[in-house]
Amino acid sequence: MDFGFTKEQESFRQEVRDFLEKKIECGAFEIISNGWLENSSQEFSKEMSERGWIGMTWPKEYGGQERTYMDRAILMEEMLTCQAPIAYHFLADRQVGPAIIHFGNDDHKKEYLPKIINAEISMVLGLSEPNAGSDLVSVKTYAKEEGDFFILNGQKVWTTGAHRADYIWMIVRTDLDAPKHKGISEFILDLKTPGVTVRPIINIAGVHSFNEVFFEDVKVPKENLVGVKNRGFYQLMAQVDYERAGLERLMQNYPVFVNLVEYVKKEKRNGQPLSKDPMVRNTLAELEVEYQIGRLFCYQVAWTLTQGRIPNYEAALCKAYCTQYEQRLSDAATRILGLYGQLMPGSKWAPMNGEAADSYLWSVSYTLQGGSLEVLKNIVATRGLGLPVAKK
Ligand SMILES: Cc1cc2nc3c(=O)[nH]c(=O)nc-3n(C[C@H](O)[C@H](O)[C@H](O)COP(=O)(O)OP(=O)(O)OC[C@H]3O[C@@H](n4cnc5c(N)ncnc54)[C@H](O)[C@@H]3O)c2cc1C
Repeated sequence: MDFGFTKEQESFRQEVRDFLEKKIECGAFEIISNGWLENSSQEFSKEMSERGWIGMTWPKEYGGQERTYMDRAILMEEMLTCQAPIAYHFLADRQVGPAIIHFGNDDHKKEYLPKIINAEISMVLGLSEPNAGSDLVSVKTYAKEEGDFFILNGQKVWTTGAHRADYIWMIVRTDLDAPKHKGISEFILDLKTPGVTVRPIINIAGVHSFNEVFFEDVKVPKENLVGVKNRGFYQLMAQVDYERAGLERLMQNYPVFVNLVEYVKKEKRNGQPLSKDPMVRNTLAELEVEYQIGRLFCYQVAWTLTQGRIPNYEAALCKAYCTQYEQRLSDAATRILGLYGQLMPGSKWAPMNGEAADSYLWSVSYTLQGGSLEVLKNIVATRGLGLPVAKK
């Protein structure tokens, strides 16, 4: 692995920085933790689209740029540093587009890929159900074949962004008799289809990010099935590594670290500069060490993808490390800020605008979403270290 960036990569980074600084005015956004995830802006996504920054790693025949995953990682690092509002296109770009390229037929490719690349549609992931999270093979939402349609009944949960998206990319059961993992298929569905109900779930930080999505006798045209019927679980397994691979796992709360360092530089406690407190200095230095390690993990994953290999073990290791770093960061921030650090955004007494407390609450979920810490450790143990698979 080459640890340096090439001249072209450095110049691309500068191009992205210039875009964020001048054109879109990075400073104009409220730079808050999770801003990138919560601030969905089709307008901003269209600006990115015009520069070829959506689907940039996709083949040219599908409107992509055939840029490397290293370039995409650079783009993401700059976007996340700024917490730019990329939620509108993010999931479709990262996951749904590549899945359609791999498993979709010509009609799917013609219908959806240009719309994703041009930031015309937004997509979300409908995988989890009340009794199927880590154990996704237990999904119960059922699509029954009837003429030219499937009739869909069931429920998804934790569906991030379903209240503002156009489509849901989902796995559902299509064979009730087959072994669990051999009876699942992948579908794409317009969220405005009659029979679909989206209900909000307010998360621990008080934000409407999650949803429950209910399906009641929803008529799904057969052409919405993507890939091979009943092979959906295997298809999905090839997609989850993309979900675990990105810098977003390291940088969701990035503003907290930056703001914490600035806060420590300015604040005094008991008449002494906080920056001279050995415990505070030690904590910040340790966080910086951990951040830089996480960054290398993320770039290793990007490099592995650029080599044309699926980073299964690498992505698991990267996400396991980075999400724990995020939790340690939020924990350290609330401790350094003291009792007032527990106040949420909106309180006039909250230091750092309440960011520390807010990120503390958000970061609890990071080790669950997209593969829980325990599941990832199992991957590291088996595929990384060659330990036997633990039987139930
Ligand atoms: C912020 C956030 C956003 C999300 N967004 C979406 C979304 O957009 N779409 C979507 O479909 N889902 C989404 N999810 C759901 C997410 O995919 C699930 O939370 C995740 O798969 C875990 O499933 P679960 O919550 O049912 O927990 P469970 O699978 O029930 O796990 C509970 C606990 O048991 C442990 N555990 C489970 N199985 C094992 C095992 N085999 N070995 C050891 N320990 C185990 C887990 O590590 C965890 O600690 C989101 C979740 C979060 C937190």
